[in-house]
Amino acid sequence: MEKTSVLDERKDFILYKQDGCNGNGMKCDANSVSGSVSQRACVYCGARVVLNPITDAFHIVHGPIGCASYTWDIRGSLSSGEDLYRNSFSTDLREQDIIFGGEKKLTAAIEEIAEKYHPKLIFVYATCIVGVIGDDVEAVCKMMSNKYNMSVIPVKSPGFSGNKSVGYKMACNAIMDLISKQKPAEKKGVNILGDFNLAGEMWIIKDYLKKIGIPVVAAFTGDSCYESLMKSPNAELNIVQCAGSSTYLANRMEEEMGIPYIKVSFFGIEDTTSSLIRIAEALKDEEARRKAIQFTETETKKLEDFLSKYRRNLEGKKAAIYVGGGFKAISLIRQFKSLGLETVVVGTQTGKKDDYEVIESLVNKDTVILDDTNPAELEKFMKEKGADILVGGVKERPLAYKLGIAFCDHNHERKHPLCGFDGVINFTKEINMSINNPVWKYLQEVL
Ligand code: SF4
Repeated sequence: MEKTSVLDERKDFILYKQDGCNGNGMKCDANSVSGSVSQRACVYCGARVVLNPITDAFHIVHGPIGCASYTWDIRGSLSSGEDLYRNSFSTDLREQDIIFGGEKKLTAAIEEIAEKYHPKLIFVYATCIVGVIGDDVEAVCKMMSNKYNMSVIPVKSPGFSGNKSVGYKMACNAIMDLISKQKPAEKKGVNILGDFNLAGEMWIIKDYLKKIGIPVVAAFTGDSCYESLMKSPNAELNIVQCAGSSTYLANRMEEEMGIPYIKVSFFGIEDTTSSLIRIAEALKDEEARRKAIQFTETETKKLEDFLSKYRRNLEGKKAAIYVGGGFKAISLIRQFKSLGLETVVVGTQTGKKDDYEVIESLVNKDTVILDDTNPAELEKFMKEKGADILVGGVKERPLAYKLGIAFCDHNHERKHPLCGFDGVINFTKEINMSINNPVWKYLQEVL
């Protein structure tokens, strides 16, 4: 088959799966190639999506008003309490501030929030222009923390300082700045890292852990609050769902607090089952392990008839996947396989070498694997491979519709949970409704 032409500098980021795994791997975890329209957001946005779900935190965007357009809407995480996090605050830097510096404006913004709302926690994001003019954001935050006896944490996130993964790292550093001052008490239970309570998914995971008798100390960061985060050093184990955003935090917590971690995924029956059992095993809790096996067997059995009914509609269809991190791509490949779909194109924005090795081991020969792709490549590979559906986020949706193929939103904007056993039902129904919608047939006739 004729290979699609791509920019020379991009070729190392693309792999056609060969027989077995060729072991050469592919390039990933690097800055985007100039001239290639990356689907990644900037460093600041990466930091913001990780920290925004902390429900009682104030988020001050130190920069021009445009940066502040990344708000709660970019990650619709739900809250069981406070809704402060749905507000955005900006220092709205203008030309004069760029010339004379923005520190006074930042100080005034923090003072206004401190005096009006008496917060416990403020994050101050340093954006591109702040990195250029050199405001000492750290010094201002320190001064304000002392003056008001609250935590004002700087997040070093100028957009030009790297890629979205750097933003994740900066958010993890900000969290460590906050929690590392805590002295741990007796260790018990787990912290959940890398789940953002989209459509209430954190509540589903917590409910499963409760059913098997494992207490949750803190969640990073879905439906979390200042008080719960400060208890996180007391956990026995960290479980990491979104590895792309939170492995760095897990590593720091292991090194500095002695909390080990395991990577998990709650997408699909196979990964949900193995994650619950592995958590119990990592805690050496035999009773929890027994309950996890029993619970997952019961839930899997309940889904058998449902899945076999839908499998008849989906067998033989081809899927393309383009998501943020490797863990989700891996779970989606497994989920599609269980529904009878073949993954023919798969890529991520921030996948790491070990993620791509697992992806390569799961897909069939000739599957296209992409790191940090652009819309043109995605379009060409989906056409070449005859994909029937694309799973991605808001930036990929128009591309699928333009090509006249089905789409499933598996990103921050979705309104129904896709994780756990409950999520399997939603996911299967959505894939079926989208892929078997008669509209695609009519569209193909006019395209
Ligand atoms: S790239 Fe820079 S200017 Fe643009 S949103 Fe990100 S921080 Fe703001």
